[in-house]
Amino acid sequence: MKPNLLQKAWNFARASAEFIKEGMPPVPEEVYNKRMAICTSCPLLAEDNTCNNCGCFMPKKSGWATAFCPEGKWDKYKVGGNGKKINLRKNEDGESNNSKTSY
Ligand code: SF4
Repeated sequence: MKPNLLQKAWNFARASAEFIKEGMPPVPEEVYNKRMAICTSCPLLAEDNTCNNCGCFMPKKSGWATAFCPEGKWDKYKVGGNGKKINLRKNEDGESNNSKTSY
């Protein structure tokens, strides 16, 4: 059933609160692109880019490491324990131990 405006706002508020609570961890670009490719081929994606299941605006929510597809179509993704943002260690030259992430 398509969520009404109040349900959409509630779902997006809950997803936003979880994202903020966990330190706003983003997903790497390749994960974001894969998620959006799945959403854009999903029959539940509306013309305004909101999901007809959760009601969230997917171009925004797809970039959040704490977010999930309510239909289970995305691969599981976690940054650190419980989806938390991780602090990367630097080596003796001051380089990050994982320069491919965007934190
Ligand atoms: S979040 Fe899941 S159900 Fe919603 S549009 Fe994307 S793939 Fe479809």
